[in-house]
Amino acid sequence: MNEMSDPHKFIRPCPICRKPAVERYMPFCSKRCSDLDLGRWLDGRYVIETEDSPGAEDDEN
Ligand SMILES: [Zn+2]
Repeated sequence: MNEMSDPHKFIRPCPICRKPAVERYMPFCSKRCSDLDLGRWLDGRYVIETEDSPGAEDDEN
């Protein structure tokens, strides 16, 4: 599995954008992602609309 560097607290990655989640918006990293997830289900689809050109979503660390 993918272990985090901090052994004291396991932080789940945001299911939307894979960033570390925050307690306030668990299991998401932000209200935006929480809203996106909600809208995703309400809309009956799993894709996230982006205004950027497709293919540019692969962030490099
Ligand atoms: Zn997120």
